[in-house]
Amino acid sequence: MATLYFHIPFCKRICTYCDFYKVGAVALIPRVVEVMHRELDQRHNYLSDKRLTSIYFGGGTPSLLSAEQIEGLIAHARQLFDCSAVEEITLEANPDDLTEEYINQLRATSINRISLGIQSFDDRVLQFMNRRHSAEEAVECVARLRSAGYDNISIDIIFGVAGFGDGWLEETLKRAISLGVEHISAYHLTVEENTRLGLLTRRGEYTPVDEERSEMEYLMVERMLAEAGYEHYEVSNYALEGRRARHNSAYWQGVEYLGIGPGAHSFSGDNRTWCVSTAKEYGDGDIRLEGETLTDVDHLNEYVMTSLRRAEGIDLGFVAEHYGADEVERIVASAKGWVEAGVVQHRGNQLLIPTTKFMMSDAVIESIFA
Ligand code: SF4
Repeated sequence: MATLYFHIPFCKRICTYCDFYKVGAVALIPRVVEVMHRELDQRHNYLSDKRLTSIYFGGGTPSLLSAEQIEGLIAHARQLFDCSAVEEITLEANPDDLTEEYINQLRATSINRISLGIQSFDDRVLQFMNRRHSAEEAVECVARLRSAGYDNISIDIIFGVAGFGDGWLEETLKRAISLGVEHISAYHLTVEENTRLGLLTRRGEYTPVDEERSEMEYLMVERMLAEAGYEHYEVSNYALEGRRARHNSAYWQGVEYLGIGPGAHSFSGDNRTWCVSTAKEYGDGDIRLEGETLTDVDHLNEYVMTSLRRAEGIDLGFVAEHYGADEVERIVASAKGWVEAGVVQHRGNQLLIPTTKFMMSDAVIESIFA
C-alpha cells in the first residue's frame, strides 16, 4: 500500500508564523500543474507498491487550484496507480476560497475530505496571524461544506498564542466543538526565525508564552476535546470515532508515499527524496530532486519517533522482530527514568506516552533514539 501527495506551494497572503516553503506568484499555478503531470509520469515507478490508499493535496494553499486542475491530477493518478482502495482524498483549503460556487465544483471532483486552516475563532488572533478570513467566515464556510454534502471535515487550530488574555482559546475550542467537525488538528504556535513572528520576537514586540502557560493551554485543548468525544490519537491530532486521518496515519506507520510538486517529499521504504526546485524553476520544467538512503538506525529512529507520537506507542514485539532483542533491551533501559517519572507507561509489549504527557514527547523520543 502507498499514498500520493500533491504539494501546492502558493499562498495569496503570508501568515505571520509560517516558515513553510511557499510563494505568492499564483500566476505560476497553471505551469506548475502542467509540470506536476509530467512529474507523475516520470516518477510513478518510485513506489514499489502501486496500490494507493489515499491522496492528499497540501500546501501552501491547494484551494487556489481550480476544481478542473484538481480532478485532472486525480484522474491522471487513477491511470498510473491502482486506486480501488482509495477511500480518502483530502484538499487543504482556506475558508475564504470556499465560495458556494467553488464548493459545488469541488463536489463534482473526487475530493471527499476537506482540511480547513481555521486556526482561531477570535478575529483579533486571526488578524495577528495575518489570516485572510474572519471567525464568522470560517463558521459560514463549514456550514456551506455541510449543506453541499461534505461529511468529513478537519479543522486546524493554533494555541499557545501570547497577548490575547484568557478566554480566547476556550471560546475557540467551544466554537470548534459546536461545529461537530470530524477531525481537529491543534498545534502550539512556534516562533520560527525567518518569519514575521520571528522578527517581532527579536524586536521585543512579541513574547512567546512561558512553559506553564503552554502546558495549561495544551491540557485545556486535551480536556475539552476529550470531553466532546474526540480521541487524541497523535500529538497534534484528534478525531471522532472512525475519523482518524488515513493519509497522515499512513505516514506515521511508515507507508510509502510519492510527493509531487515543488518542495514535496517522497519515501519508498529505504529512500527519501525531496524536490529542491523553486516554484519558478519547477514551472519551467526543471524538477531537481535530492535524496538519501536510510540506514537501519534511521529506520529504527523513525519508528521510535512516529510511534511515541501516537497513542499506541512502541510495539516492542515489532522492534524485537525487526531489530532484535538487544534493541528492545536498550529502548526499555532508556525509557526507565521516564517510566519512573510517570511520563511513559510500559504495559506488556507496549511502551507509550499517555496523551496528557504528549507535550514531553520530543524529549522522550530524543532520549530513546538509537
Ligand atoms: S496559508 Fe498555510 S502555507 Fe500559506 S502562509 Fe499561511 S500557514 Fe503558510
